[in-house]
Amino acid sequence: SKEIVDKWVKGTCRFCGTGCGVYVGVKDGKVVAIKGNPDAKTNFGFLCIKGFLAYKCMYHPDRLKYPMIRQKNGRFKKVSWDEALDYVVKKFKYYHKKYGKDSVAYYGSGQCTTEESYTFNKLWKGGFRSNMVEGNPRLCMASAVGGYITTFGSDEPVGSYADIESAKCIFLVGSNTSECHPIIFRRIMRHKMRNPEVKVIVCEPRKTNTAKIADLWLPVDPGTDLAIFHSMAREIIKNNWHDKKFIDEHTRITDGKNVYTFDKYVEFLEQFTPETVEKLSRCPAENIRKAAKWFATSGASMTLWTMGLNQRTRGVWANNLIHNLHLITGNICKPGADSFSLTGQPNACGGVRETGSLAHLLPGTKPVKNKKWRTHVEKVWGLKPGTIDPKPGFHTIKMFGALGGEKDPNKPIKAMLTSTTNPAQSLPNLNKYIKGMKDAFLVVLDIFPTKTTQLADVVLPAAFLYEKGGVFGCSERRSQLTEKAVNPPGEAKADIWIAAQIAKRMGFEKLIPWNMDDSMKANEMAWTDYITVTKDTDHSLWGATYDRLKKEKAGIQWPCPYPGHPGTYKRYVRGMDPMFEHEEFKKFFGKKIPKDAKIYFYMDKKGEGKANIWLRPYKGPAEVPDAEYPFYLTTGRVIAHWHTGTMTMRIPEIARSYPYAYVEIHPDDAKKYNIFEGDLVEIVSRRGKAILPARITKNSLPGILFVPWFDQEISRMINFVCNDAVDPGSKEPEFKIAAVKIRKH
Ligand code: SF4
Repeated sequence: SKEIVDKWVKGTCRFCGTGCGVYVGVKDGKVVAIKGNPDAKTNFGFLCIKGFLAYKCMYHPDRLKYPMIRQKNGRFKKVSWDEALDYVVKKFKYYHKKYGKDSVAYYGSGQCTTEESYTFNKLWKGGFRSNMVEGNPRLCMASAVGGYITTFGSDEPVGSYADIESAKCIFLVGSNTSECHPIIFRRIMRHKMRNPEVKVIVCEPRKTNTAKIADLWLPVDPGTDLAIFHSMAREIIKNNWHDKKFIDEHTRITDGKNVYTFDKYVEFLEQFTPETVEKLSRCPAENIRKAAKWFATSGASMTLWTMGLNQRTRGVWANNLIHNLHLITGNICKPGADSFSLTGQPNACGGVRETGSLAHLLPGTKPVKNKKWRTHVEKVWGLKPGTIDPKPGFHTIKMFGALGGEKDPNKPIKAMLTSTTNPAQSLPNLNKYIKGMKDAFLVVLDIFPTKTTQLADVVLPAAFLYEKGGVFGCSERRSQLTEKAVNPPGEAKADIWIAAQIAKRMGFEKLIPWNMDDSMKANEMAWTDYITVTKDTDHSLWGATYDRLKKEKAGIQWPCPYPGHPGTYKRYVRGMDPMFEHEEFKKFFGKKIPKDAKIYFYMDKKGEGKANIWLRPYKGPAEVPDAEYPFYLTTGRVIAHWHTGTMTMRIPEIARSYPYAYVEIHPDDAKKYNIFEGDLVEIVSRRGKAILPARITKNSLPGILFVPWFDQEISRMINFVCNDAVDPGSKEPEFKIAAVKIRKH
């Protein structure tokens, strides 16, 4: 490697939420290679194809290199940065004055760095005094946040990836881990190969490559797994496999209004017999019984899940019911036992959840409604008390529903700035939202042209991660720093510079003083500002200084409450979680952790240190197949592509391996509709349609179709078909389940 590069620069992969550590190889000022970081605790040097080849898209000729403003004739004109930024700010000021502070929105991404999300969030909430701040993590992990907060009182997992290697039973739910988190899957496979007695259970509508290594597959009709989780709990208790001591000491049973006895919980579960649930879900009763036994009796069970659980109208409840299984069996707060949400995007956890870059949150993952927290943030930001609006802004689906032109009185949001995301391809039920994006004043920051830049008024060329540096979190509360390796092409700039330039022109220079060309210096200032907000809180990153993150080869897991603290593998356990001994935390939050408590869920809202076992009634998805729309449609990713394919379709090796999307269809259904492999199939929902080539496979149950969503060709864009019904708690849409009909095209 010494011969092919001038230097190796430390970084992270900018694709999935695994957070693989990398070294970026630079030669003659260009990135020419990427290799895994063997010291990284996430991936131990291994990478999947996306991480390994990421640099190839950086030099694609389509890179956006200059700011552009759309002209009256509809064409873009190349302009200077001053011209572009002056124009953007002039328009923002105009809308603010005419329609109020909430008429201009920010829509960010779990692919922005933490410093960028924090900066835009601060600019909007502290500067514009508007909570109209959202990001695409609402579309992927909001239900996981809702699940953690309603069960444990605080967002993000108790444990870490390291639990995988200690687990005796691994339960994968709604996660095609092999394709969506390939390096996590590698860890699971390696653990299983070395320890064949370790049981792997997969609960999924499709027999994915993940399910193929499982000892047990629980096939399930989309959205019915809530009943399976209750049924497993019933079996566990019926067979006396539950942990009575843990339940008594560390949990309460509740429906949110009342607290119930254990007997009441048993009575509630009685309706979910495996046979009843088999009829509802198509999962064999025998499999439910076996899964319950393996999960409860393994000695250390770990559940991992992702979008299959979250992108649902009952996503929060599904998360709660997984946590229930862990709490009733005491499979939490010990090595190998954890209830672990895998995040889809590389920096949804660190960048958006933790910096509170959503409409209802503030940095530190606390609600804007919380007066004490607003006061704290205002103090750190040097704002007058009462500056931050206590009223949450609109969640993503509501925000895009409210976006439109000046002539439309029903659209209160008149302008939007988006960064590092492509909502014109990634929102569900696209037909409903495209006009609003087109009519509104839309400013788009990105590295490539996308479906969203096609609707934009101003396009601002952004730097790629390795051209600007910054911190990314990942699924296991770990923050890792990427150093800037090379300069961006043309006049492309780091988002953080763009945010600071807007702040300056808006008159908020004091709030965002990191207005400089050196992106790493600006990053450091933003990071230091951010960790000051988290000091002495349950999400403390105070000890993870920039200097330290630069030196650490594997990043740091929060809570990290003081300099020199090594970071936290497991929360809520005395001896592992530093907050048990952190005096300032007690002062700040008024949390008194009893001296003899070994396990204590200290963010419990009732102040009893307990987690909630939820009595959630069964509710199915928003749409189920009927006579007119007889199929379930579910969507997802493939190993090669990242989200809307903006980058991965510009990596030749990857584009060749997966050139277009397709629909998976069971042979029985194909026969009924006279469909053969490769035939074009029209898929129609109540909202829209897509036309895709058929791939005939027994991977799914009959009656279930699967389509990946990376394809940018308009006729194959499956999000026109998807449902935008949202979870009432998390406001995450039900991408995973729609009722559709098909016909041979
Ligand atoms: Fe990147 Fe995820 Fe692949 Fe790791 S598993 S290399 S983070 S895409």
